[in-house]
Amino acid sequence: MPRGDGTGPTGQGPGTGRGLGHGGGGRGRMGGQSMGPGGECVCPSCGAKVDHKLGVPCYEMSCPKCGTKMVRG
Ligand SMILES: [Zn+2]
Repeated sequence: MPRGDGTGPTGQGPGTGRGLGHGGGGRGRMGGQSMGPGGECVCPSCGAKVDHKLGVPCYEMSCPKCGTKMVRG
């Protein structure tokens, strides 16, 4: 700009600011599914735990102590 009258800064204005920046993407979802295969089944009644057997849902297993159906621990 050869004029040099000093009116206003150059290069600023709407349109320069936004754009790339804080994206909203995000990495995966957190939390949730921490229960994979294996693990334990827990008795909701007495709190006993047994190893979870693959292929056998916890609710099909009975507590060795009190016979209550186990739940996924
Ligand atoms: Zn029990």
